[in-house]
Amino acid sequence: MNAAVYEKLLARLKRIQVLATVSGHLGWDEQVYLPPGSAPLRGQQSALMAELVHREASHPEIGEMLSAVEATPAELTADQLAVVRQARRDYDQATKLPADFVREKAEHTSRGYHAWVSARSRSDFGSFAPFLVKHLELARREAGYMGCGARPYDYWIDQHDPGVDSQNIAQLFAGLKEGLVPLVRQIAASGVRSRREALCRCPVYDQRELLYELIERLGFDFQRGRLDVSLHPFCSGSGMDTRMTTRFNADAPLDSLFGAIHETGHGMYEQGLVVDYHGTALGMNAGMAWHESQSRLWENQVARSRAFWQYFEPRFRSRFTEQASVLDSDELYLAVNTVRPGCIRVEADEVTYNLHIILRFEMERRMFAGDLAVDDLPQAWNDGMQELLGLRPPDDRRGVLQDIHWSGGSFGYFPSYCLGNMIAAQLWDTVRRSEAGLEDDFSRGDFSRLLRWLRANVHHRGRRMGTLEMVKAVTDQELSPRPLLDYLRERYGSLYLQ
Ligand code: ZN
Repeated sequence: MNAAVYEKLLARLKRIQVLATVSGHLGWDEQVYLPPGSAPLRGQQSALMAELVHREASHPEIGEMLSAVEATPAELTADQLAVVRQARRDYDQATKLPADFVREKAEHTSRGYHAWVSARSRSDFGSFAPFLVKHLELARREAGYMGCGARPYDYWIDQHDPGVDSQNIAQLFAGLKEGLVPLVRQIAASGVRSRREALCRCPVYDQRELLYELIERLGFDFQRGRLDVSLHPFCSGSGMDTRMTTRFNADAPLDSLFGAIHETGHGMYEQGLVVDYHGTALGMNAGMAWHESQSRLWENQVARSRAFWQYFEPRFRSRFTEQASVLDSDELYLAVNTVRPGCIRVEADEVTYNLHIILRFEMERRMFAGDLAVDDLPQAWNDGMQELLGLRPPDDRRGVLQDIHWSGGSFGYFPSYCLGNMIAAQLWDTVRRSEAGLEDDFSRGDFSRLLRWLRANVHHRGRRMGTLEMVKAVTDQELSPRPLLDYLRERYGSLYLQ
């Protein structure tokens, strides 16, 4: 290998990443600031940027450089091998799909989205079904182009979480389901009821002030990032310029609070990636499940803990003296940790949430395996909800049509949410054992030790290894549902099952 070739490859990868951040900021602006009449121009700008990013990412020189360095692997360090492996993966992704196929998929994605919006508003699954059939066909074809035609669903899972397959997930989810279903039933039958809704009329201005103060204290760097408002909260940008969004509701201040802490976890992960390595596997997030583990850890393990509320409750009450007076301290803590089985995934609490994901994984797996026809999906969905959560959706709008993912042909994404919860719990277990007194820090409003630990053990690793391999490296254990089940039983058992 010629060291100069490797350096040139790095420079190419850097160009792609910089270009992609421009594209990302256009998307952020579209959801935060864009005047409605400017949408057509933004559509043109985004399409052109996507074309330029693709042109850069599929440049033949990259293929030549990759072939050159791959020819002498013994000359590469472990880090360089990781960089080359990821670059090959991305290059193949950019070049192996025929242009006709890419166009066909883009057109169908747009049509599928509009069909889903309309079908959902009318709760009419039948009108969306043909679009889903076509999406499944496109997904299988894409896996075929990428050399994974025999295991298309595994291809899609691997796209989100490198190295994970449906067999891994099926095993992990089976263990989780076995512990969770009875726990949810016990909580529902406990008779303990949260009075979360009593907390209302909290002015948005005060929510915003309190939130900014908190997020900065958690460790988000506002010199390299922003928090704005959008209809659907998200986190975009890079660690050099992280753009998070949230939304406020005067009558649901806890939703706004936890939504924003969730995005902050994502944002701090991006800010923790090593800047000099941006654009390569060494400075890249480790996949969707790992990303989600960072948001969930801050949102749940940290911000729903008693220690956190020892610090935060006085601040919350001083902002919302009158509004919060309707709940005493225990009631406020129960409001923060409300568990209520429901049909809607995005409204689910951290206990029932995982069952929503298990249902979607089972549906996807069966559809790809040919065991479940799209026409039979609503029935299978409702039966699954009944089995897992003891509920039957009143209609498809609140059932099989509720999520956007399938409308855009996004498969294999849902499992990442639940894998992320499992990883978060396993990290929490690990860090608590290695850092004594961590929760005492939280009760004093000091989160720096946890963030430092995550920086050193998670963020700085980048994407040097696959999802499950990294779990083993960081926690010294294989990924297991047990830490998540133990954590949920401990926290929610003490609130609901005493
Ligand atoms: Zn998230």
